Amino acid sequence: MSERFTGSFTQQEPIPEQGIEAALAVMRSGRLHRYNTVSGELAEVALLEQEFANFLGARYCLATASGGSAMTTALRAVGIGPGDRVLTNAFTLAPVPGAIAGVGAAPVYVETTGNLRIDLDDLEAKAWEARVLLLSHMRGHLCDMDRLMAICDAAGVLVIEDCAHTMGAAWRGVPSGRHGAVGCYSTQTYKHMNSGEGGFLVTDDAEIAARAIVGSGSYMLYGRHLAAPGEEVFRRVRLETPNVSSRMDNLRAAILRPQLAVLPDQCRRWTERYRVVEAGLRDTPGLRLPERPEEESFVGSSIQLLLDGWAAEDVQAVVARCAARGVELKWFGAAEPVAFTSRYDSWRYAEVPHLPQTDRVLAGLLDMRLPLTFSLEDCALIARIIRAEVSAVFQGRAAAE
Ligand SMILES: *Cc1c(COP(=O)(O)O)cnc(C)c1O
Repeated sequence: MSERFTGSFTQQEPIPEQGIEAALAVMRSGRLHRYNTVSGELAEVALLEQEFANFLGARYCLATASGGSAMTTALRAVGIGPGDRVLTNAFTLAPVPGAIAGVGAAPVYVETTGNLRIDLDDLEAKAWEARVLLLSHMRGHLCDMDRLMAICDAAGVLVIEDCAHTMGAAWRGVPSGRHGAVGCYSTQTYKHMNSGEGGFLVTDDAEIAARAIVGSGSYMLYGRHLAAPGEEVFRRVRLETPNVSSRMDNLRAAILRPQLAVLPDQCRRWTERYRVVEAGLRDTPGLRLPERPEEESFVGSSIQLLLDGWAAEDVQAVVARCAARGVELKWFGAAEPVAFTSRYDSWRYAEVPHLPQTDRVLAGLLDMRLPLTFSLEDCALIARIIRAEVSAVFQGRAAAE
């Protein structure tokens, strides 16, 4: 009788009791809107922004309605609009090209390396095509951020980071989101803090911060922010920045503040789980795991498996055999998008370029979430199942040849 896993790959941990209490207090007050405060009161959103800015060592922070709205707000705040082109990863999630298209701009996709990072040689070649890079640290993989910043600085390209999968991660000790001009984060349920929907952007640039705050819908109430630049900066931008309402509310902020306090601990727990699966899969014939450079401190909230050069039907066989034993793997090589879409050629509103390197990587790419509701024993079991099924299909293939 073979082992079976019975846990859920989409089940996150409950909201901390402290967050539930704080959320109840907000609801009892009736003051859910971030600018609805009584005299002397500091809104939960303003406090959360201050705490998140401190956590990252950033000057300014804005909490938003989603990670996607953080990115569109950032793009608008740096002056991207209709007709502009924005460099971005070919391997990312739909809200990234969606944010670019949402401000009327067009994505210019950059190739993907075998280790799932943005291809820096391709970036260097394409850097002249745009003045902004929306860099997605997709599935938590950080590229060589020193080289990336050198390329972008030399080409005059401003960097906005999509840190939806790297909240709590760092490159050579610098927190993810703090290399570029703006860092964007998501607090959607499947990310590293959970408020259902939500997001942040952080920056040290006063002008960008003021444009983002007014642009997110502060009206003339920006003075109620705690992680914002001074009045003189707002005076320059407040009447010429369109209001595209995308604010966070106090209920979500109340849920998030206690989660931020334990975020580093949670990140450690994710990576502990990742390491158990990684160790269990190491040296499985036919299977490669992405390299994790020493400079990268990552958050292992998901793991990627690479079946280089495998035929589509063999990859599908692995997915089906693992699913039959309760292990959910997502394949990025399927022709039709399923569930969360992450293939550049399924976003038909934008020009679909020819990216053979990305196609090759995605054809053999499997992805698995590692929610904190999994125990370390669960992770070891999952690795045993994947190892057995990959080996079975791989040996069957070798025998057939
Ligand atoms: C989740 C996610 C986002 C932001 O998503 P929202 O649902 O808008 O918060 C951005 N980029 C990536 C790579 C993501 O996975």
